[in-house]
Amino acid sequence: MQITAERLEVSMRITRILAYQVDLPLHEGSYKWSDGKQVIVFDSTVVGVETDAGITGWGEVCPLGPAYLPAYAAGVRAGLKELALQLIGYDPTELTKLDRQMDALLKGHPYVKSAIDMACWDILGQTAGLPVCTLLGGRYGEDFGLYRAISQESPEAMARSAAGYRSQGYRRFQLKVGGDPDTDIERIRAVRSILQPGDRLIADANTGWTQHEAMRVVRAVRDIDVYIEQPCLTYEECLSVRRRTDHPFVLDEVIDGIDVLARGKADMAMDVVNLKISKFGGLTKTRQARDLCVSLGIAMTIEDSWGGDIVTAAIAHLAHSTPGEFLFTTTDFNSYVTKTIADGAPHRVNGRMAASTKPGLGVRPRMEVLGQPVLAVGA
Ligand code: MG
Repeated sequence: MQITAERLEVSMRITRILAYQVDLPLHEGSYKWSDGKQVIVFDSTVVGVETDAGITGWGEVCPLGPAYLPAYAAGVRAGLKELALQLIGYDPTELTKLDRQMDALLKGHPYVKSAIDMACWDILGQTAGLPVCTLLGGRYGEDFGLYRAISQESPEAMARSAAGYRSQGYRRFQLKVGGDPDTDIERIRAVRSILQPGDRLIADANTGWTQHEAMRVVRAVRDIDVYIEQPCLTYEECLSVRRRTDHPFVLDEVIDGIDVLARGKADMAMDVVNLKISKFGGLTKTRQARDLCVSLGIAMTIEDSWGGDIVTAAIAHLAHSTPGEFLFTTTDFNSYVTKTIADGAPHRVNGRMAASTKPGLGVRPRMEVLGQPVLAVGA
């Protein structure tokens, strides 16, 4: 490879931003978690960022319905409509500058910015001829282990589901609890009973328990090898539970930026955090959080709220560039949904996955699946 000084001086401009809406049905028919929440069909938004260099980058964002995080599918498109025109003319390869610019143009709404940032990482990778994984710090090992989320059902049904996924190679299981505490205790016991030593079990309440309910559950499963994830709604409630249990502890929904990571470290509020790309506002901010967690000695679940092939590819690049001892777990959302929206995305092999070695994210959207854009800004 030869890189000339002329090449390094070339700047690139965003010429057009396109958004596509795509429905992602589920193989299991539905996905259920705390307090009776569920999604039947995921509503995902794919973003294409075109440049004057003839390179197009791709990103995707898919909220977990409207009642999980402060994010909703139509909000992605409304936010893009607000933001996209103002980004025409910016250099997509200057990712930190672009991230700051998006924050200056639209306060908050991190999930709106996530797919644009993802697409610009894809552009940078294609321009450099390097996979995003390399740009994010380098590839650790051949592949990495995945977790499977076990949708909330009866204890027996969840144990059957976990056994089925275990036979497919998964060794890490995230149980959707956060319902009736007595049933949740049975759910945790039933699923742990079908696992083997070394398998990892996480009881994720997704904020669904009140503080006293959480205390009852953690006490009742004290003899069980299980991680407790985000038992209650607020940081303070979670911290109170954390200080009165000896289970390893994961924080997720309240971890949405650097300030709460720093506070959590100071309070010793968790052993593991869950970093979702769109919760932070893209790969740029999630990479910053990931690197801080490595420095602070905090392990991570690296994922997103949901998504198809493009989100799965982005997760894989971030996960594969994370030192193995800090990658608590990650997941392959494209195997949960029935629709393939892009070729080149990574796929699970025996419960494990690897990031693409192709330049950028390594995905090629299936335009016949995406259809016509719902938003096209620029020329
Ligand atoms: Mg969680």
